[in-house]
Amino acid sequence: MSNETLQAVRGMNDILPDEAGLWLWFEDTVRDWLQGYGYRNIRMPLVEPTGLFKRAIGEVTDIVEKEMYSFEDSLNGDHLTLRPEGTASCVRAVLQHNLLYNAPQRLYYSGPMFRHERPQKGRYRQFHQVGVEALGFAGPDIDAEQIIMCARLWKKLGIRDVSLQLNTLGDTASRHRHREKLIAYFEQHKDVLDADATRRLHSNPLRILDSKNPAMQEIIAGAPKLMDELEEDALKHFNDLQSILKRHDIAYEINPRLVRGLDYYNRTVFEWVTTRLGAQGTICAGGRYDGLVEQIGGKPAPAMGFAMGVERLLALVQEDGMALPKQEVDVYVVHQGELAGQLASRVAEQLRDDRLRVLLHCGGGSFKSQMKKADGSGASVAVVIGDDEAQANEVSVKPMQGGEQVRVGVSQLIATINNIIK
Ligand code: ATP
Ligand code: MG
Repeated sequence: MSNETLQAVRGMNDILPDEAGLWLWFEDTVRDWLQGYGYRNIRMPLVEPTGLFKRAIGEVTDIVEKEMYSFEDSLNGDHLTLRPEGTASCVRAVLQHNLLYNAPQRLYYSGPMFRHERPQKGRYRQFHQVGVEALGFAGPDIDAEQIIMCARLWKKLGIRDVSLQLNTLGDTASRHRHREKLIAYFEQHKDVLDADATRRLHSNPLRILDSKNPAMQEIIAGAPKLMDELEEDALKHFNDLQSILKRHDIAYEINPRLVRGLDYYNRTVFEWVTTRLGAQGTICAGGRYDGLVEQIGGKPAPAMGFAMGVERLLALVQEDGMALPKQEVDVYVVHQGELAGQLASRVAEQLRDDRLRVLLHCGGGSFKSQMKKADGSGASVAVVIGDDEAQANEVSVKPMQGGEQVRVGVSQLIATINNIIK
């Protein structure tokens, strides 16, 4: 066996205690925010049948073509995949448990997602998303709700410089008309298309509009626009959404190149982007997917959702240097001697009954070295117990910010500490 230190899988990160405080604060903030809009938590497995993602995300997509961690179950040969996103599993769970039976659902989930991408800043192989889905709602009011709630979250997180890009994909008929025009247009410019685009020309031409290849930007800019093909209902949906956003002072830019390549995505699509994270600037992406529920085998039901990238959001939060609460302790308990040790652990439990955060010194050592640890812990108070204190059922209390050490009976300890902390 090699003695080499084992390393985490490339692109999969440890979140260490110093950083975890930021994550905990983020998770609390997000939970509060979602409750404020009546979205309820749902938790799905991290592993699903590979077929689910092929059906829900589509075979001709970056995710399914090259990013999934798929494997065969060695016991029964099932084809399984680590989830690359949450919408597919969420819709699967909703259908499996018949949650849409008599009421629409506002749901959210959060956790790790897995994609085999080239790791770089803001792009990892295990990353985290918070996903929000509203199932059974057809109107632009829910589209607006989800966009407005994002704007509120950015405020709560203290994030600046994010902007909203908005587009509509229309309905199936207009998208098919547009598709024919796109294919004809790109066929005229075949010499400029890269390998991905050439491959997708007939299978998924809309996806070409999403290409990041600089060499193709000019022909993409000149491509036929879906907006010119929209039917009346879809146009009204889009206009109504915009009116609501305007009433709520939500600024946006219409970006006709914002697309989703699959037939069950329709109407509203949006992305929140920032220029402050380099190339990985999309922090949140969403849209309407009225065809997906049926695609996964349910009775047709409209739906709208979005997912945000937690690592990217937290990178922004850190850029803005928001002061975060550190994980703190109130009391450090120092003790020496056997009797003192017994009293120390009893006292520590009592203080925790009173909701104080207590570090009980473990591992022995001189009073002096223990006091150093107390200093370094950030506690406001040290409780010091030697055997003579223990014999008298008393403890010494030392305010760490300066001030007299006092000796009190155990029954007065909590009052003494509260006096110092207040
Ligand atoms: P990109 O164009 O950056 O690859 P995407 O279209 O693949 O994004 P979605 O599937 O819409 O992304 O996922 C929603 C959000 O999840 C993204 O906007 C981003 O913030 C985040 N995200 C996606 N992939 C990664 C990744 N590999 N590492 C970190 N965050 C990611
Ligand atoms: Mg991607």
